[in-house]
Amino acid sequence: MVDVDPRIDAAHAMPMAELVDRLQIAGLVRTSGELVGPCPSCGGKDRFGINLQKQIFNCRVCGAKGDQIALVQLALGMDFPAALEWLIGPRQELTPAQLAEQRRRAQENQRKRDAEAAKHRADAIALAWKIWQRGQPADDTLVVDYLARRGIPPRSGAKLPRCFRFEPDARLVVPDPNRSREFKTVHEGPAMLAEIAGPDGKFCGVHRTWIDLDQAKGKPVVPHPFKDGEIVSAKKVYGSKKGGAIRLYTPRDASILVMAEGIETTLSGLAAKAIETGAAYWAGVDLGNMSGQRKLGKGLKYAGIPDMSDHDAFIPPQWVQRLIFVQDGDSEPRLTRAKLLSGLRRAMATRPGLTAGIVHPGDGIDMNDLLLSGGTTTSEEVNRDA
Ligand SMILES: [Zn+2]
Repeated sequence: MVDVDPRIDAAHAMPMAELVDRLQIAGLVRTSGELVGPCPSCGGKDRFGINLQKQIFNCRVCGAKGDQIALVQLALGMDFPAALEWLIGPRQELTPAQLAEQRRRAQENQRKRDAEAAKHRADAIALAWKIWQRGQPADDTLVVDYLARRGIPPRSGAKLPRCFRFEPDARLVVPDPNRSREFKTVHEGPAMLAEIAGPDGKFCGVHRTWIDLDQAKGKPVVPHPFKDGEIVSAKKVYGSKKGGAIRLYTPRDASILVMAEGIETTLSGLAAKAIETGAAYWAGVDLGNMSGQRKLGKGLKYAGIPDMSDHDAFIPPQWVQRLIFVQDGDSEPRLTRAKLLSGLRRAMATRPGLTAGIVHPGDGIDMNDLLLSGGTTTSEEVNRDA
């Protein structure tokens, strides 16, 4: 329920002509249905008019306009609440006891919501941990074949990153729309597991990719049982991904971190050696995690300004001096870019001295396509301010 102050209606019921008197706005002349004269804010002779029919005012020069409350704001230089109070008086106050009770209840509800959210998160991480524990070492398993299919085989003799495990038999399920809290199994088979590490480097989730080497991209293609024409995604995240990353490759003295959204694209960047050698390569799991909340509103959709009140988004660790986000081929390149800018600017605002850049594999392709085609990237330096 939106709490609308009833005093606003009372203010709108006040005749403007009376208000002009109360505010002692001088020099206004009545013409046909209007009071015309100098503007209480910017002066002049006849730039200011009050329409007595519509009960609104307007200044041709400074652009001030509005209702009774706006006129008080203009004439007395007050903000909205002060103007409303000047006009109608203070809002009917609750007794201190009522206020205290209201605060107590609000805090109690907030505590309950926080506790529920924390429990939810803990349960989700516990489930992810269970899945991770079921996993086996990934070397010499289908995980190697899957990555090879995607054009990113491990170098011969090299071990896979430790963030990978292999799960021989995983169930892919979708929620049943007809039965709440029930799921339908649509596929069972081997899967690649990837650990998601939180900002502290500890386990906080797992990313599961089902493997089917009979398919071109190495993943099962399962028609959605409840959505006509849709394919069930063969990738799933369990646990908490916020602020986390799949830490694929972190060389000992790295000071540069390259991050793409997906595992395959990040590994492709590493394999293509097209970006930085000696850098760490982590997958950001999803674009929203890399971006964090953005400031939105008129004209801001593509501005890429981070909302710094979001404390859960990804921030690079202290050792990172340069952060590079990979902009993968996408149907919405402007929006993707805005999200990457938001994440990079958040990182720069949080870690003074950090520099940042965006690397593009090219229009409509991702790093994996680039690796497979042998092309080159373009890069762009990012400044902290828009
Ligand atoms: Zn004016």
